[in-house]
Amino acid sequence: MKKIAILGQPNVGKSSLFNRFARRRIAITSDVAGTTRDVKKEFVDFDGQEAQILDTGGIDESSELFKKVGNKAIEAAEEADIVLYMVDGKALPDERDKRLFYRLQALGKPIALVVNKIDNDKEEERAWEFAEFGAENLFFVSVSHNRRVGSLTQWIKSHLEEPGELEALLQAGGEEEALENLLARFDDEGAPAEEEENLDEIRVAIIGRTNVGKSSLLNALLGEERAVVSEVAGTTIDPVDERMILEDKTVTFVDTAGLRRRGKIQGIERYALGRTRQMLERSDIALLVLDASAPLTDLDEKIAGLVDEYKLGCIIVLNKWDEAIGSYEEAVAEVRHRFKFLSWAPIITLSAKSKKRVHKVGELILRVFGNYTRRIPTRDLNEVIRQATIRHHIPSLKGKPVNILFASQYAIKPPKIALVSNRPKGLHFSYLRYLTNQLRTHFDLEGTPVVLVPKKRGERDRDADEGRDAHDSRGV
Ligand code: GDP
Repeated sequence: MKKIAILGQPNVGKSSLFNRFARRRIAITSDVAGTTRDVKKEFVDFDGQEAQILDTGGIDESSELFKKVGNKAIEAAEEADIVLYMVDGKALPDERDKRLFYRLQALGKPIALVVNKIDNDKEEERAWEFAEFGAENLFFVSVSHNRRVGSLTQWIKSHLEEPGELEALLQAGGEEEALENLLARFDDEGAPAEEEENLDEIRVAIIGRTNVGKSSLLNALLGEERAVVSEVAGTTIDPVDERMILEDKTVTFVDTAGLRRRGKIQGIERYALGRTRQMLERSDIALLVLDASAPLTDLDEKIAGLVDEYKLGCIIVLNKWDEAIGSYEEAVAEVRHRFKFLSWAPIITLSAKSKKRVHKVGELILRVFGNYTRRIPTRDLNEVIRQATIRHHIPSLKGKPVNILFASQYAIKPPKIALVSNRPKGLHFSYLRYLTNQLRTHFDLEGTPVVLVPKKRGERDRDADEGRDAHDSRGV
């Protein structure tokens, strides 16, 4: 916690200022015990930044301020992080004040010259004499009239802001170690250990409303041969999933039996959505199939919404491109407009019927899966977050500063990142979206959602799929 020392000659108004700040008093008892008798101390809350105010009232009573310069006043200033040197604005600038002020200034701490008892504009005009101190931070105030005390308070507050903990440690050097320590602490305090993830199998759901060409696409992907086989098999053992090999991965299309059982679900929207949910629950990536030969419908939008809800990787397939109703630009614009929450999903136009560009789907699946399982190195992650918060400061929460101490990815499928913050609630949806976009410009995350979860340090990881996640990362 930072300390603020108020220094100055007797009767300049130190105690009044001290008392004014003390209205922001917070009850901390134990720390106060054992402090020197002649320095009053108070813990105060500057709108979320706690600080300790030291009033050296006792010093001037013993009139030691100037006699033994460097004793009590300097001591107090040395103990402090911020120094307020107060003078009486109704009096003339005093050489001794100046000398002491310069000595204090030499300590290299934030120091302000506070010219008190400036009750009105006229007095303020005259008070410019005090400019001869050459103080970088000069305030004309009237504590008793509560004039301009606000700007002094603002100045104090600006020096109370602690740099992010990580930043502070990084500044102090030993970067690597600092980061490790912080992360270790975080882990100790309950971040989940990474679960064993299966990276060899990619589970894909082909979803979309009836007749958009899902089973045609499946057939095209698997190859005619395979489709015939499965059709035969379907009559006997009714396979639920079908597989194909893509490079070193197995791609499993979930519930293809349901896909092939055409006609049954036609027109029953609720049932269709229910089945889609069942498929999504078991999948990594959704191939969202849309019919490019007809306008998009509300049902398309509802189904797309499920992909967002389940936080899956996604590829948007504009099928029946051979009969497309508009230009590529128009079609893409329409999809982007209707499915804003899937803005990160790649779009591919193809024809399941003629198989045009169907072969591209495999490449896309591999790429999206790579991003869906991406682990962002902690250092790079923190660097990007840090830069982003410098570029756009985190808005305060009811006037209280919000910062991010550090970021740590704790899961994949999709990437989930904890943002450890002093005030997690202060990280608003729109700011998280900004951070997500920053991450997307620095790391290849095409086709995957990114979940940012604000946390307080030590907070146990709640189920990452709780509603909160869905809310926080919706549309980002
Ligand atoms: P599903 O209900 O989504 O599985 O759709 P189907 O795969 O059964 O296809 C519905 C209809 O669209 C069938 O008559 C297909 O022949 C036709 N179809 C599928 N893909 C294409 C395509 O790329 N172009 C055209 N013109 N028709 C297609």
